[in-house]
Amino acid sequence: MSAANPLFPGSPLFPASVAGSLPKPAWLAETHKLWPAWKQQGAELEAAKRDATLVWIKQQEDAGLDIVGDGEMSRQHFVHGFVENVDGIDRDNKVEIGIRADRYKAMVPRVVGKLALKGRAHPWEAAFCRAHTKRILKFTLPGPMTIMDTLADSYYGDKVKTAFAFADLLNQEARALEADGVDIIQFDEPAFNAYTQEAAGWGIEALHRAIDGLKAKTAVHICYGYGIQANIEWKRGLGNEWRQYEDFFPALAKSKIDMVSLECIHSRVPPHLMRLLDGKTVLVGALDVATDLVETPDDIAATVQTALQFVDKDKLILCSNCGLAPLDGAIAAAKLQALGQGALLARQRFG
Ligand SMILES: [Zn+2]
Repeated sequence: MSAANPLFPGSPLFPASVAGSLPKPAWLAETHKLWPAWKQQGAELEAAKRDATLVWIKQQEDAGLDIVGDGEMSRQHFVHGFVENVDGIDRDNKVEIGIRADRYKAMVPRVVGKLALKGRAHPWEAAFCRAHTKRILKFTLPGPMTIMDTLADSYYGDKVKTAFAFADLLNQEARALEADGVDIIQFDEPAFNAYTQEAAGWGIEALHRAIDGLKAKTAVHICYGYGIQANIEWKRGLGNEWRQYEDFFPALAKSKIDMVSLECIHSRVPPHLMRLLDGKTVLVGALDVATDLVETPDDIAATVQTALQFVDKDKLILCSNCGLAPLDGAIAAAKLQALGQGALLARQRFG
């Protein structure tokens, strides 16, 4: 198709993707939780993670998604799944801190020494996905600012230094993921919406450190969080227009990151803020992760229509507002189907 995104020649118009996480099956972990306990141990757990990954690759393909991922089946939490494989962190003596500008309290591990990767953070996941799908493969990592904001530091003594130390480790892992065959490496930076001025400055610089030398396409996902109660209440207090993106989108437009994933459907983000990302490929949130109501293909096409006022046709990718992990598995699968069908409908209407 002539109007294909130049980053992905040969892919259809409005390729479809999800932000990252998908619900874990009940035989793998507790359901409906952001930080669920595993239901297996040892070799059985490792086998169950692989099986769950395979199930979701198949479901994403069957739904017609053009860009697929591992659904984060092998990590308990989007930040701690990475941090688990980092040396220099004390996980036994957690401390309570306020995170995301004190939006909620969490018990978090502490940085107590020089940070270093213990081998690979994700030793098998990407290669396993690559062996089982020919679609565009996206892999998610937490962003440096968000990792920093989800831990307590007792070593570096400076949050920017801590974030850059993580950025170096992320770069090391990202290069290895690229070698595994990953096409898109996405950094999840929900903290950007909590520290918008810093995001425009050192937040983007830390991302640049994380993507240094990569040939794979790069993305940053910035959302208003999972559909959990603490976030729903926070969003109620943000007023009628959520303009956080306005503070750092102009800096992102000038950055070396290829793609930006943002919230759209049912969000109070003024859609015209997408215009501030001029030149970037935009992953537009067309699935609401804070409701069990399944979107219709018409809803998806309507989101495309909105986004097309501000984003060029060949730079628009369909996505979810955030990860789908806390949802019911069957509802998430139905939402993926809606997204795939919505992409088809949008191609007919606006192609
Ligand atoms: Zn998110």
